[in-house]
Amino acid sequence: MGILEGKKGLILGVANNKSIAWGVAQAAKREGAILGFNYMGEQMEKRVRPLAESMGAEIIAPMNVSDDESMDQFFAQVKEQWGELDFIVHSIAFANKDALQDSFNKTTRDDFHLALDISAFSFVACANRAASMMKPGGSMVTMSYLGAERAVPGYGVMGVAKAALEASTRYLAADLGRNGLRVNALSAGPIRTLAASAVGDFRKLMEKSARGSMLGRNVSQDEVGNTCVYLLSDLASGVTGELHYVDAGFHVGAGDPGLPV
Ligand code: NAD
Repeated sequence: MGILEGKKGLILGVANNKSIAWGVAQAAKREGAILGFNYMGEQMEKRVRPLAESMGAEIIAPMNVSDDESMDQFFAQVKEQWGELDFIVHSIAFANKDALQDSFNKTTRDDFHLALDISAFSFVACANRAASMMKPGGSMVTMSYLGAERAVPGYGVMGVAKAALEASTRYLAADLGRNGLRVNALSAGPIRTLAASAVGDFRKLMEKSARGSMLGRNVSQDEVGNTCVYLLSDLASGVTGELHYVDAGFHVGAGDPGLPV
């Protein structure tokens, strides 16, 4: 028996087989979950549909989280097909690439709104719609990064969005906890994905992160997937409002272990 045996859940944010959400989907499927996926636009559908079909997904439908109508349609389909929901994984973020290359102080109002809307508010909007279909024991997980807490070069406005996402996780956990639902965030180390390619000098970030981590390496999408599946499962029934790091220990380290102290 897998730890998600028979549970129905949505994996939101697969773009391709490099996506962190895909790592979660594979782990969730292995643990017995029944999965539904969204995709953003026709371009993404070409990649996402075959991946989702390969997992026997019961729902594969469009949802653009910057559009309330699109979100309502997606969740209405979930309600019609499944009625109930056990978990959601929110693995969605977006910022204008230019906004991440420029100095943070030059961030425009529009770029600020866009990054926070898609990368932080969308979790609240998904959580609210999902909660109405969940029984006590339901679980939600979102994806964050250390740039929420530290001024990471090249991360700019996305760091501010992640700070809002992490705070939203705590407030959602407080409110939805009254219904017995759990809400947590993972803080993943850097992984080469489509979204990561927008981050300024990502290669350098990965090198620094591997050198400064306690395991002396970066993490994989499978490792994030496995940790996420634990938080989605009843094994984590007492865990909510938590930020759980999957970063090979980088955030508690003192820097590059190869350097003299
Ligand atoms: P990815 O590009 O594979 O996934 C990002 C997803 O967001 C894509 O599927 C994209 O379609 C979706 N998305 C963007 N705008 C959307 C919209 N308006 N409506 C619906 N979907 C939309 O990249 P990823 O790295 O797997 O990112 C997943 C999550 O993990 C993000 O929140 C990211 O910030 C976070 N994260 C990534 C890293 C990393 O190094 N890659 C590290 C920590 C956290």
